[in-house]
Amino acid sequence: MLRTLWDDFVGLIYPRLCLACQEPLITGENHLCTGCRAELPYTDYHRLPPDQNPLGRRFWGKLPVRHALSYLRFVRHGRVQHLLHELKYQGQRDVGTALGQLYGAELHAAGLAADFDLIVPVPLHPKKLAKRGYNQAAAFATGLAEGMQLPATPAALRRTTNTKTQTKKNRAERWENVATVFEVENPTTVVGKRVLVVDDVLTTGATLEACGAVLLAAGAAEVSIATIACADR
Ligand SMILES: [Zn+2]
Repeated sequence: MLRTLWDDFVGLIYPRLCLACQEPLITGENHLCTGCRAELPYTDYHRLPPDQNPLGRRFWGKLPVRHALSYLRFVRHGRVQHLLHELKYQGQRDVGTALGQLYGAELHAAGLAADFDLIVPVPLHPKKLAKRGYNQAAAFATGLAEGMQLPATPAALRRTTNTKTQTKKNRAERWENVATVFEVENPTTVVGKRVLVVDDVLTTGATLEACGAVLLAAGAAEVSIATIACADR
């Protein structure tokens, strides 16, 4: 009761805003308003058979993935882009954890938690990590692990060189650019494991493809991928 009154009082001075639509949150709402929770563009890919999952099809012939999952569909200039921007550039690490918890609980309820032994975030380059203070993919991984009641392994992958900006490169060049930059930190942590590799956003899929390839090469039994949002090609 006291806590609620205090929150209301603080809310009068610093209204907490929905991170997706920027409307003020009411008591009991955290990070997202009830309207956004109901209306965000969820993919529900985890409910589709693997051969009918459009995200999974994008990895065909490139990387064998057991499950290809994304909580949301990326919509430019919409609520999802705003959410990702808050997570990445506004220091809203909690957004990633909260979205991971929500999605993890859904995947757990759908019976998918039994298909993973480890959750591994795509690493940031140490320079970027130092600048931002956190890895947004690791925040999502932490939330997913909590929601699915699985261990997260933040240090399983390492980035070896700083990737140059990818925006002006074609797909083949992007692949070349990321292919050499990931390494498995300690192969004994991944050998024989079914690994869920996670990132905040998937555009071409080249980063997750590269991470999955090094994990399989290091002895992982199988790889699945999950993102907060994926862009249509
Ligand atoms: Zn909202």
